[in-house]
Amino acid sequence: MPKVVVIGAGIVGTALADELTARGFTDVTVLDRGPLFTTGGSTSHAPGLVFQTNPSRTMSAFASYTVEKFCALQHRDGWAFNQVGGLEVATTPQRWADLHRKAGWADAWGIEGRLLSPAECAELHPLVDSARVVGGFHTPADGLAKGVRAAEAQAARAIARGARFVPHTEVVGIVEKSGRVAGVRTTDGVVDADIVVCAAGFWGAQLAKEVGLVVPLVPMAHQYARTGQIAALVGRNSELSEAGLPILRHQDQDLYFREHVDRLGIGSYSHRPMPVDISTLMADTAGEPMPSMLPFTEEDFAPAWSAASELIPALSDSKVEEAFNGIFSFTPDGLSIIGEHRELSGFWVAEAVWVTHSAGVAKATAEWIVDGTPLIDVHECDLYRFEDVARSPDFIMQTSSQAFVEVYDIIHPYQFRTALRGLRTSPFYERQKQLGAFFYEGAGWERPAWFEANAELAQRLRADGLPFPERDDWSSRFWSPISIAEAHWTRERLAMYDMTPLTRYEIAGPGAAAFLQRMSTNDVDKSVGSVTYTMLLDETGGIRSDITVARLGQDRFQVAVNGPMDFDWLHRHLSDGVTLRDITGGTCCIGVWGPLARDTVQPLCPDDLSHEKFKYFRALQTYLGAVPVTMLRVSYVGELGWEIYASAEYGAALWDLLFEAGQAHEVIAAGRIAFNSLRIEKGYRLWGTDMTTEHQPAAAGVGFAVRMNKDGFIGKSALERADAPQKLLRSIIFDDPTAVALGKEPVYDGDRCVGYVTSAGYSATIGRTIAYAWLPAGIDVGDAVTVDYRGTRYAASVHSEPVVDPEMARIKR
Ligand SMILES: Cc1cc2nc3c(=O)[nH]c(=O)nc-3n(C[C@H](O)[C@H](O)[C@H](O)COP(=O)(O)OP(=O)(O)OC[C@H]3O[C@@H](n4cnc5c(N)ncnc54)[C@H](O)[C@@H]3O)c2cc1C
Repeated sequence: MPKVVVIGAGIVGTALADELTARGFTDVTVLDRGPLFTTGGSTSHAPGLVFQTNPSRTMSAFASYTVEKFCALQHRDGWAFNQVGGLEVATTPQRWADLHRKAGWADAWGIEGRLLSPAECAELHPLVDSARVVGGFHTPADGLAKGVRAAEAQAARAIARGARFVPHTEVVGIVEKSGRVAGVRTTDGVVDADIVVCAAGFWGAQLAKEVGLVVPLVPMAHQYARTGQIAALVGRNSELSEAGLPILRHQDQDLYFREHVDRLGIGSYSHRPMPVDISTLMADTAGEPMPSMLPFTEEDFAPAWSAASELIPALSDSKVEEAFNGIFSFTPDGLSIIGEHRELSGFWVAEAVWVTHSAGVAKATAEWIVDGTPLIDVHECDLYRFEDVARSPDFIMQTSSQAFVEVYDIIHPYQFRTALRGLRTSPFYERQKQLGAFFYEGAGWERPAWFEANAELAQRLRADGLPFPERDDWSSRFWSPISIAEAHWTRERLAMYDMTPLTRYEIAGPGAAAFLQRMSTNDVDKSVGSVTYTMLLDETGGIRSDITVARLGQDRFQVAVNGPMDFDWLHRHLSDGVTLRDITGGTCCIGVWGPLARDTVQPLCPDDLSHEKFKYFRALQTYLGAVPVTMLRVSYVGELGWEIYASAEYGAALWDLLFEAGQAHEVIAAGRIAFNSLRIEKGYRLWGTDMTTEHQPAAAGVGFAVRMNKDGFIGKSALERADAPQKLLRSIIFDDPTAVALGKEPVYDGDRCVGYVTSAGYSATIGRTIAYAWLPAGIDVGDAVTVDYRGTRYAASVHSEPVVDPEMARIKR
């Protein structure tokens, strides 16, 4: 049995010891430099509010598991979880609309919740001034966690199975042997280990750095204050129960509240970001009993106090009695970080985890360590989700600070980072700016969403009768009706898409074909010039990625992937003699698609581009004008055309060449919104949104990319054992042409929530929004469902796929 050392006995380390020992890894030693279990870490003073509902389905599932587990924990001093419920109030119409969206997530993720009138809010929480409130959202299963008790109770379960907890033992280094972790160096000597999990809270990034690992988190101070006695609370709660009113969030003012018997606790995120320099912190507070607490900065709290008193008038008789600036971790995207160090096997991290998600994160991490794969999709928390640029100290600081500022903000699903823009631009960037591109940001890249240059085209099409349905304010943000014109024009004539940010690797060497055969589900060992769409599965048959493999030489493949986690996965499995290289930045790509694509491109090319000579799903290395290119006859938008790749230095010349040749056919540059709507019409999935490791190919509708007669690919035996899927990814079409969905909306069969939307787009081709949704297998083509979009139910029906061009006549011509 492997020896495991967990660094840190906070809520994460203790939960992890419990989950590991429950799975049979009983040789677990948890080391903490503080005393047990009030160690001095963030858990020791967290007020412990647990609101489960999160835009992320995974984070919500982590929280729900934490609630379920904590409710069952026993502690000699009393409750570890006090299920007082959660109440979020809206004091603005915008927040009220957003609470409807939140209620939708709760339904979609299986969390009980109800929207309340102002009077109902005041009834539930009599301290709230109902006159200030537009409405509220109540979640009865939320509540208060007592962090230290929950930690101790989980530790007790682990100890009963053989785990050891050692206080006052600081880990000062990691012991390595032949690329594996071999133990930890402590102030009391070396402790051997086969597996080390760093659960050291905001100190964890420093420890990880010791072994060359960047864990992108920033320790950030956050203010928490306790008031004096509040008359209205006197006699309501016993010392034992501490609280009876729901935990309360007033997100319009970045505040939250809980009871401490007859006092209130107030947490504020309304102050400036206060990142903490860990090196000075170590020196300043190492000897303190509570090194994660800094002195209260009163001036930062003043606006919070007046905003709090407006919502809770009873505060006017009270004042702050005890307060501090507590430290915990913030990350660039606000999510946790879990995974194993690629260069030092056996070294794991479980960092930037709130009490709220702690047991769920611990369970997933334990499953990952013990069984090789977590049962739940964890890609949003994966240690290797970050692009190179996102691991720079500047990026980590700026984006984590933004995450702090936005922690309670209303975030639109298409709202992109404003800090550190313009980091990655394709060679077409200047041309795109000239065409009035509105840029989204993705993985550091500037990506045109639409082009203002096409406004006139949109007007012309509108005058010709193409419908442009009105949209509400919310769905109109970061969106333009021009995208409808761009999509329509792609189907009718011709458009150019910048595909440069599509991540691509070169996989080469004598073993490359065999390596890719083992890694992926489809047969990729075909002739030079073949292109194959295929899946990367994990051992459970879950989809880790969908990739497109172009065989450009006997031993050389260009592989289009989804992002850095693919590099990680492929790299971990790399065979001897095979090289893996990210070639994204050094190359560029233009998608030229539409019925007039061949008429435009053929005159530029010395090779025959006819359908007979250059077939669908084939690659060709040739020239366009003087530019050396690799053309792939593929189309994510479902039209005739090619992805045209070139070395980056030719990018601008290639763009000009194609754009000029396209003028005769009224070519346009088109953006991401049009692209997304076209790919949805055509039935193409987006990994990470429509399908993840929780789904096997058949359920996700990509079973066609699996060759079960191929030997020994990863995940094959799991597919052989798999039962028929209970849920299927379905395409649904709204009845009402003005109905929209942006993703994550709950889907109902009658009154019963049966699933959720993954992605959606307005289809210019059929004049309706099409969405993908995970639905029970019993719901079939033709069945009616409804979708809740921010409180309004829209009728839709399940449609056969793909909605557009099922015969593939448009592509194969
Ligand atoms: C003011 C405040 C309010 C908060 N409110 C909430 C809330 O309402 N709800 C919520 O869900 N979350 C809340 N949080 C966040 C939450 O407290 C933390 O995210 C969580 O407790 C982190 O748990 P952890 O186990 O990762 O870290 P910690 O609790 O910090 O534990 C890490 C442990 O590692 C030990 N350690 C570190 N370095 C070493 C080393 N080198 N050797 C040995 N041991 C080491 C430390 O002593 C510590 O015990 C709040 C945080 C603060 C500061």
